[in-house]
Amino acid sequence: MTTPTATTGLIFNEPLLWEKSRPGRCGLSIPKSDVPSSPLDSSLTTGGPDLPQLSEVDVTRHFTRLSQWNFGVDSGMYPLGSCTMKYNPKTNEVQAARPGLANAHPMAGEQVSQGAMELMYNLEQELAEITGMDAVTLQPAAGAHGELTGMLVIHAYHAKQGKQRSKIIIPDTAHGTNPASATLCGYKSINIKSGENGILTPEAIAEVMDEDTAGIMITNPNTLGLFEENIQEIADIVHAKGGLVYGDGANMNAIMGIVQPGKIGIDVIHLNLHKTFSTPHGGGGPGSGPIGVVKKLAPFLPSPRIKKTGKGYSWQFDCPDTIGRMLTFHGHFGVLVRAYAYIRTMGGNGLKTVSQLAVLNANYIKAKLKDTLALAYDRPCMHECVFSDKNQQPHHVTTLDMAKRLMDYGFHPPTVYFPLVVHGAIMIEPTETESRETIDEFIQAFKAIAKEAEETPELLQSAPSRPKLKRLDEVTAARKPCLCG
Ligand SMILES: *Cc1c(COP(=O)(O)O)cnc(C)c1O
Repeated sequence: MTTPTATTGLIFNEPLLWEKSRPGRCGLSIPKSDVPSSPLDSSLTTGGPDLPQLSEVDVTRHFTRLSQWNFGVDSGMYPLGSCTMKYNPKTNEVQAARPGLANAHPMAGEQVSQGAMELMYNLEQELAEITGMDAVTLQPAAGAHGELTGMLVIHAYHAKQGKQRSKIIIPDTAHGTNPASATLCGYKSINIKSGENGILTPEAIAEVMDEDTAGIMITNPNTLGLFEENIQEIADIVHAKGGLVYGDGANMNAIMGIVQPGKIGIDVIHLNLHKTFSTPHGGGGPGSGPIGVVKKLAPFLPSPRIKKTGKGYSWQFDCPDTIGRMLTFHGHFGVLVRAYAYIRTMGGNGLKTVSQLAVLNANYIKAKLKDTLALAYDRPCMHECVFSDKNQQPHHVTTLDMAKRLMDYGFHPPTVYFPLVVHGAIMIEPTETESRETIDEFIQAFKAIAKEAEETPELLQSAPSRPKLKRLDEVTAARKPCLCG
């Protein structure tokens, strides 16, 4: 690596709009009114909102400057593990913005919504094919909401069997939303440890699985980036006691076109369309978390269901066993359009290549960095690899220090301190969309940082030095949040 790609450049300080406001300044030139004026009700004109008064230039510069403080997947590599921050093809944005789709209204009625409904119907079919499931709902608003929907389906299934169960098995590598979703359904989480090689053992499941346990929530590949190789045996153990297997599909980017979760014992799975199927999601939304289920669970899916008949598409409200609606309307439609466009443009082979390249890129990083950073589990990984700061500890350099220093080298830091089972975890998910050159630069940056850890640790302990904002006091920010600017 020659020079770091990040510079401090012409990045400006920027006050609040209210601080820039000057009385009477205005961004619009409105023609003189040619109708007689009529006074407003005084209660509307006094004590009105305190809006800043600015020119068009002020407003444009304000938001442009703020955008320059930001970093996104369109600015550079964004290797957050467990998030799949891949580049999202712009054509999918164009399709979602088409007026016929962007202006579709959920209250418009079936007759004038046939195109939108066809798109949703087809997307359900395609997601069912990708996951190997029998039925799909597009309603859930994000992954965690899909988990909640799936757990409600499991709950409804057991109720229908005549006996409710009280517990759910959740491995120690699970995302925090798993136990949260289970708890919202009234289940008690039974936490189990992964085996020595980072994956679950059938023995550990057999020990806790009983007839009061509703099932298991399992992420595959798991959050260590490892494929749960014992999944079928585990599913058999759970099924033998009448339980169900929930699959957290957040890591689907690793296995599309290679593994159909429905074929390896999963009964319910959510997908994060905003992770795997093209919607930019840095900054928190919008998302979409469809779930797929096996046949015996289909009657419990949220209503209304989309139905195809000889006359076209209609909403089926008559679903006696449904858990009810999970969203006011039918799902985050714009995200669904992007996912549909993505799947159609990639095709089955394209999606398989996505997963193959995502896995190749992660293994490349793992191989190139394993002499620099301590590897949590030295075995082939899937789409992400997990290191720790063990090698840097003697120099009093932590994962956080290295993550901050990466910004000086022009990279968004990876996920840090997750999963919790690895002390000082550094979880890297390069995704399939990064080029060899970019990945090599990233590797070089980490190697340079590891060298600095030995020679000039103080550089890291105070990093970053180049971005607009330096090391933030995260503890105070969390404990005493300043919410008023
Ligand atoms: C992202 C993620 C979730 C939650 O999904 P959201 O769409 O953020 O609600 C759940 N599990 C895993 C493993 C994840 O990575």
